[in-house]
Amino acid sequence: MTKNLSRTLAAQTLDLVAQQVKLQGWVQTKRDHGKVTFIDLRDRSGLVQCVGVDQLQDVAVESVIEIIGTVKARPAKMVNQDLATGAVEVKVEQYQVLNLAQELPITLTGDGKDIGEQPRLKYRYLDLRRNRMQKILKMRSAFNRAIREYLYQQDFVEIETPMLTRSTKEGARDFIVPSRFQPGKFYALPQSPQQYKQLLMTAGFERYFQITRCIRDEDLRADRGFEFTQLDLEMSFVDKPQVMNMVESLVKTAVKAVGGQLRDQTFPVVDYDQALNKYGADKFDLRTDQEKKQGLLAFAWVVKFPFFKKVDTSDAAEVRDGKSGWTFTHNPFSNPEPEFIKDHLAGKNIDKIITDQYDLVCNGYEVGGGSIRAHRPEILKQTFKIMGYSDQEIETSIGHMLEAFKLGTPPHGGIALGLDRLVMVLAQETSVKETIAFPMTSTGRTAVMTAPSKVSQEQLAELGLQVIDTEKSSSA
Ligand code: ASP
Repeated sequence: MTKNLSRTLAAQTLDLVAQQVKLQGWVQTKRDHGKVTFIDLRDRSGLVQCVGVDQLQDVAVESVIEIIGTVKARPAKMVNQDLATGAVEVKVEQYQVLNLAQELPITLTGDGKDIGEQPRLKYRYLDLRRNRMQKILKMRSAFNRAIREYLYQQDFVEIETPMLTRSTKEGARDFIVPSRFQPGKFYALPQSPQQYKQLLMTAGFERYFQITRCIRDEDLRADRGFEFTQLDLEMSFVDKPQVMNMVESLVKTAVKAVGGQLRDQTFPVVDYDQALNKYGADKFDLRTDQEKKQGLLAFAWVVKFPFFKKVDTSDAAEVRDGKSGWTFTHNPFSNPEPEFIKDHLAGKNIDKIITDQYDLVCNGYEVGGGSIRAHRPEILKQTFKIMGYSDQEIETSIGHMLEAFKLGTPPHGGIALGLDRLVMVLAQETSVKETIAFPMTSTGRTAVMTAPSKVSQEQLAELGLQVIDTEKSSSA
């Protein structure tokens, strides 16, 4: 191309009638009418119709092209009311194909839900071009932005914590990573930043947040993957109502910023027992059918959970954590509610101890959970004693926390909100995969690139590892 024009976006053409512009983007649709070819050119701002006379015949749908042309006002009866730029079109003078698209392996018209998961995720970069997916991911970005802005205003500091770390208990199996420098030793990927965020309270930051990935080896479901994104935060010198109020304002602000509509301006607070009696579960949907149709979001808090439960022997992680037959229901780092501290320390009435935990539910999903933490070492230690840990095992697993709690740790509490699920309910979707750019398949395979995959003998040797059941591992 000879012209040294700078790029114009499709949406800007509306204000540029009679001017020459350079457009770059994808061919959304193409209609041939003999000598005249119409295309809708798509870029990040939207669509604009381009008209080529004896031009554009060779461009294929979804190819990337560059066009130089002049913006023309369309005659009144030709205006397309369905298109933001429907009052204009661009008369093509020159064009060039920057990347020719072959016939696409999946169709991009429609919402994509009729396409099987395998092809949709194999060609996720195409699937994401569809309007529905573009809207969801842009909304997710706007939601994150609103969260960040709100938290910055409230004096929070955004701090990153390690991905290669040591196990921190959230009730799931760990994903482990072998160490090359110390063969036979392993890192765990974080099930959450729980311990680090508490140590940031010891470090005096007082208000921490992070939008972070958590990795848990649990069974996959529509509302849960191996990795998920969490808004993680922690505050010092707060009690339960203060954390709940702050989080409620944050959620309301961020939800409204992306056009979400709340059923309740003040989130109902329901006791765990009541929830079980009334709804049969600790996550529930408060909406009427009418409210569901209106797309309202019904948030509610659940409080007064039992701290401990009997180990489910079919759950490997629970069996490992609950050596005494008791394990934690939510978070072993929580404080018991104040009136139960005495029993907790005495190891009495274990089934009756209530944890200072609060969960946030929305439209039938658990979208967050947090607690006021044990910051006195004897309380945390006792939690692990109740779960049957020996002094030695306690020292190995949480000795570093107990030490920090003897070196000036303020009272503190926090929460984590599941961002994938929140965006899922905001977008009125029923699978978190619709909110994640590159989610895994339901069988745990990554999108586009195939993982898990085998590694070479050399890599295994470097790590001091040997795969014993090759039959099984190669069939995946
Ligand atoms: N660490 C907890 C979780 O990831 C959340 C919290 O208690 O702050 O579920």
